[in-house]
Amino acid sequence: MSKFGKVFLTGAGPGDIEMMTLKAMRIVKEADVIIYDRLANPDILEYAKDGCEFIYVGKEDSKHIMPQDQINEVIYQAACKYEKVCRLKGGDSFVFGRGGEEAIYIKDRGVEFEFIPGITSSISVPEYAGIPVTHRGVAVSFRVVTGHEAPGKAKSQIPWENYKTDDTIVFLMGLHNLDFITKKLIEIGKPKDFPIAVISRGSTKDQKVVVGTLENIYEQAKDLPTPSLFVVGEVVKLREQLKWFENDK
Ligand code: SAH
Repeated sequence: MSKFGKVFLTGAGPGDIEMMTLKAMRIVKEADVIIYDRLANPDILEYAKDGCEFIYVGKEDSKHIMPQDQINEVIYQAACKYEKVCRLKGGDSFVFGRGGEEAIYIKDRGVEFEFIPGITSSISVPEYAGIPVTHRGVAVSFRVVTGHEAPGKAKSQIPWENYKTDDTIVFLMGLHNLDFITKKLIEIGKPKDFPIAVISRGSTKDQKVVVGTLENIYEQAKDLPTPSLFVVGEVVKLREQLKWFENDK
């Protein structure tokens, strides 16, 4: 028998609690401890069993409450103490979720783990706004990127030139860089009137969607609350026909 418990790196989906998988819900119900982020809907914790310990390692965008190496250690310590550890994250653990790093850290220390994929916000949040990331005749591909890189960085790691011919680009963690990113996209040759939608708190009762162009979106959307993502592409226009979510007035 291992002297450690097992860690379940669990994706919680985009926000709406019903967007969790059955497997994720089962682990939440069985866990002895749940280590969760700000992006995982806290209502989920109500399903935990009596006596389950909750550890908040809240982090959102750049405002990390706890540095990643400390989070890794918290997970490891939990596995030393408990049999079943649920590491609950917003969306999916592998989409800008650092799930890989956490798994490597505990594996190096002999702890077993399992991944439970979640529904990533990068696809489901546009869907809640009636924006398909691909659509026949409109977009045959989509790219999901981080918008988090600091604009002042001497050498950008983002290969902006490659984005020139992209159909759909979904930016996560980018609201604070919206002005920089939209200008950059215009600079590499995207038309100024290219469609963009910013979606805030997607799939929740607070969902807000602002649609505009690369040129005018910043003024309209800059004050939206986090978490927010944005979608750049002709697919945004489909929202006119596909808008469906009752909370999206
Ligand atoms: N692992 C997560 C993403 C983590 S990065 C996933 O797969 O969804 C965090 C970013 O995700 C946020 O900055 C925001 O851009 C986006 N995000 C997550 N949930 C969101 C939501 N409900 N509405 C809008 N954006 C969201």
